[in-house]
Amino acid sequence: MIKVKNLHKYFKDLHVLKGIDLEVKSKEVVVILGASGSGKSTLLRCLNYLEVKDEGEIWFEDTKVDPVHIKLNKVREDIGMVFQHFNLFPHKTVIENIIEAPIIVRKLEREEAIQQGMELLEKVGLADKAHVYPEKLSGGQKQRVAIARSLAMNPRALLFDEPTSALDPELVGEVLNVMKELAQEGMTMVVVTHEMGFAREVADRIVFLDNGVIAEESTPEQFFTNPQSEKARQFLGKVL
Ligand code: ADP
Ligand code: MG
Repeated sequence: MIKVKNLHKYFKDLHVLKGIDLEVKSKEVVVILGASGSGKSTLLRCLNYLEVKDEGEIWFEDTKVDPVHIKLNKVREDIGMVFQHFNLFPHKTVIENIIEAPIIVRKLEREEAIQQGMELLEKVGLADKAHVYPEKLSGGQKQRVAIARSLAMNPRALLFDEPTSALDPELVGEVLNVMKELAQEGMTMVVVTHEMGFAREVADRIVFLDNGVIAEESTPEQFFTNPQSEKARQFLGKVL
């Protein structure tokens, strides 16, 4: 579904992604691991053109993703993104947060958008919060709303950039559970996370980034029990 070929990204002199090759199949859950600064966020952001790559190709299904071949807003509809900080609109209620983009971008009727939004809130366990403002929610609830908001665009794939890193530990599980459910339903997902339990349990594949290159790519079983690279062994020694 997503194919990345020889992707390079620089920030001025800093060579952040150094030739990434990556494929994500439909319904696959790929977890990207790596130390802070290894390029995980930059890679995700390049996938839906929040950052502009310097070299290489990105394909989504049969379309080359670049400003010449495709409308970037279309890519961002097809490939949704969930961030560490939820970025909900503070002056809008939960349901208003969710229906805004479907009405403006997908041109849904308000009634239809509300109905779909309520179903999504049901799905993330927050139907009773539809009419409250984000400030009344816990971090875990805000992140679940943010996931519902992404789903409201009917994305073909979802990218998650450390979706639980800003949460108090007791709130992490409720967000991971929603993500696990999405994975089980067959959502194609690329997830950057430091939650090793989630990675091990839910990932179909682990991609380990080290200093802008993929140092290792394997099944969770292999990665966590018998990593092949020294860098991965060092990383696991620190995080486990
Ligand atoms: P990770 O998500 O793995 O922690 P990032 O992709 O955020 O890593 O960052 C990789 C490197 O690129 C880091 O050295 C970071 O400081 C640098 N970087 C990231 N974004 C920018 C930016 N907008 N401008 C300059 N440098 C950046
Ligand atoms: Mg990051």
